[in-house]
This record gives sequence, structure tokens and C-alpha cells, in this order.
Amino acid sequence: MSYKFYGGVHPSPRKNLTSDGAIKRVFVPKRVVLPLSQHTGSPAEPIVKTGDAVNAFSEIAKATGFVSSPVHASISGKVTKISNASTPTSNRALSVFIESQGDEDQDFKIRQRRDPNGLSGEELISIIKDAGIVGLGGAAFPTHVKLSPPKNRPVDIVILNGAECEPYLTCDQRLMIESPKEILEGLEIILRVLNAKNAYIAIEDNKQPAIYAMEKALKAFSFQPSAVGVKIIVLRTKYPQGAEKQIIKSILNRTVPAGGLPMDVGCVVQNVQTAYAIYEAVYSGKPLAERAITLTGSCLKEPVNIRVRIGTMLTDLVDFIGGFKKEPKKIIMGGPMMGLAQYTMDVPIIKGTSGVLFLSEEEVLRDKESVCIRCGKCIETCPMQLSPTTLMYRVKREFFGEAKDLGIAGCFECGACAYECPAKIPLLDYMKYGKARI
Ligand code: SF4
Ligand code: SF4
Repeated sequence: MSYKFYGGVHPSPRKNLTSDGAIKRVFVPKRVVLPLSQHTGSPAEPIVKTGDAVNAFSEIAKATGFVSSPVHASISGKVTKISNASTPTSNRALSVFIESQGDEDQDFKIRQRRDPNGLSGEELISIIKDAGIVGLGGAAFPTHVKLSPPKNRPVDIVILNGAECEPYLTCDQRLMIESPKEILEGLEIILRVLNAKNAYIAIEDNKQPAIYAMEKALKAFSFQPSAVGVKIIVLRTKYPQGAEKQIIKSILNRTVPAGGLPMDVGCVVQNVQTAYAIYEAVYSGKPLAERAITLTGSCLKEPVNIRVRIGTMLTDLVDFIGGFKKEPKKIIMGGPMMGLAQYTMDVPIIKGTSGVLFLSEEEVLRDKESVCIRCGKCIETCPMQLSPTTLMYRVKREFFGEAKDLGIAGCFECGACAYECPAKIPLLDYMKYGKARI
């Protein structure tokens, strides 16, 4: 069972650079920079000061409000400063700098082995919140908020998102192959918290080893309570299949209203890495201080999937994996369609970083922009059923009010229109600019 969402494109997947490589062990750097605002919502507030000694996985900044998330030290060491620093999202943010003094223990010690069966929904949410877990698919929305729908909007279905539709990225795919049972343990906790009875694990059809691994683990897994129904849904490979609204449409044929949330249609979508982080937090008390990411692109000597400590500087990470075989023309945090170009390697990996691409001139070659030939392809491709060409003209002329009336806020910057445009008009740049001006 799978429905179609409107629009979408089929970019070359380019996943073969890393899809067969197991996730490498965690890299523990000598220094980390931890932005206090690496999630949606209000920034965390530091509870340490310069000169303090901190242990890896201890809390260093507390959440400030419901839509916020704490931050944890990802290495043991000394706080060397707390000041503004560059982040991959191109904003500067107050950040805690930690440097290892050389002889500290950097491993995670299990704090409390818990059995989730003995915990209430409130207790589980509180563990997830205190562990600083946010959506690891990229949006970094605090997970405890997603798992606390208001009483008048009950959630009956959970979608576990393993679509990973962005080209190049393979860390979710590898996690499903290597840790399917742990992902299912996380899903079971999500279902219990929401009191939902049904879940779909969504994987695109170009990830057969992940589908096989999840199916095998699912057969051997008994969900508690046993009334729960969990199915694997194999989706047709198509970008942006993994976007929340599109995956809900594809699986449930439900349409999230403009400006609405998945819970408005009785659904919650969680990324497979988020489920894994929930498993770790609940079962062993491990907060979110590391994650799996993909480092790839033709400029790297050795493209890899690797577990990294949050706050690792990109420059240290590239050195660790062996550096470049040629100088990259473009560095992108995230996938090539929705990721953000970086102007410096002096930025940290943050909770929402799913990968970093190091692309050559040939890989980023942009044809010269010409005039719109009114082919309508951008309209056919836009999954939000917008008219990118019309919006582009409004933004160009600075008619921002008209762009707003035409629904530019509904654009979630997937880049499908720009990818498909034969005139090579940077439609995504116009959408971003228009939204920012409004
Ligand atoms: S970038 Fe925005 S306008 Fe373009 S296809 Fe995606 S949602 Fe539509
Ligand atoms: S795809 Fe490009 S050329 Fe075609 S209508 Fe849209 S903006 Fe114009």
C-alpha cells in the first residue's frame, strides 16, 4: 500500500560511495564547540562557566521552556570559553567551548539500566527531554514536544522515517542495517508514550539491505502491548519522499493542512536515528551527545559513515578520516537538495547534521541561468503545489505581499523546482530570499 504525493523529482542517488561501509566507531576529538541553539525553539542556558571541569555526557546547558532542549558535554575536559561562534546554519550562536586536558575518561558509562515497561508515559517523556533528544532527520525539533500532542489531537499512527531520500546520505540506511532491534525498541517507546497502536516503518525501494534487516528484526520482535501493529512500507524512490507531509500522504493518504502539523491528521513522524537515540536514553541513560553521519563526495580520500561526538569541528573530522584527495569546490552540511553550503570548515557538527558533502567542481557545475520559458515543470514538480515561477517573478520585483498571498510560506525549501528547471533559474534561492524578506 502506498499512495502518490504530488510532484517530486528523481535526482541521481549517488549513495554508492558509502552505502556498503559500516558505521565507523565514534571519533573522540580533543576539542568541541557546542552551540546552545542547535534545535528549534528557545536556546538552552549554560549551567557551567569558563574554567569548569566537565565530564562527557553531563548536562552543560538547560532547556529554557517547553520548546527547548538541553545540551550535554560530548567530551570530558575544561570549559575554555563561552562565546558566540559560527554554526552550520549560518547563524552565530552562543556556544560552550570544551578542550580535553588529555587524561580524562571519554567513554559513556551506563548511568541507569531501565526497563521501559515499568515507566509511565510522563516518565518516558521526561527522560527523552532531559536527554536533549531532537529530531535527527535535520529539523532538530525537540522530540518531547512532538510526543506530547494536546488531548484534542490524539495520535493513532506513528511513521518511522527511514526514507533518507536526499542523494549521497546513507547513515540512516546503515543504522537500519546494523541496529534494527535498537530502532524497534525506540519505536516501541514512542508508541507507548503516544498510546498509539499502529506504526509504519517507511523505507525507499533503493535500500534493499535495510528493508531486509528491518523485516528480519521485526519478525523476531514482540511489541508490548501485543495489540500493536507495525508494518514496513516500501516506498518508491522519489525526492522529497522523506519530507513529513509527503511521507504522510504516501502512506496514509492524509493531507496535513497548510501551516498545520502531522498531529492535525493523527500522526507523528520520527526519524530512525531519533528512535535509536530514544532507545539509548531510556535503556541506559545516555543523552544525545553523539550521532551517526555520512561524510562523502568525490573530494574525500575516504568517504565514510561514522559516529561523531556533537560539537566536533569539521576541520578536525576531515583530518581524522584522512583528508582530501582534491580541494572541494563546495562543502554542504546535509544533503545536496536541502543542505546548507558552508564558507568555512571551522563549524561544529550539530544535532541536526545528517551528513557533510565535499563536492568537486564537476559535481556542482551550475549551467548559466537563462530566461523562464514557461514550460511549467517547476509547477509540476513542487510537492506543495505552489507555482515557483510565479513566486520567483513576485520576489524579483519585490512584491513580497503578493508572494505571501500566493503561499510562499508553504515552501519548505526542498529544491525540487530548481533541480528540474531547464532554464537553470535558482528558484530555491528566490524562495528562501522571499520568505526571509516576509
Ligand atoms: S523549493 Fe519550495 S517552491 Fe520549490 S519545489 Fe520545493 S516546496 Fe516547491
Ligand atoms: S521550470 Fe523554469 S523555465 Fe519552466 S516555468 Fe518554471 S521557472 Fe520557467
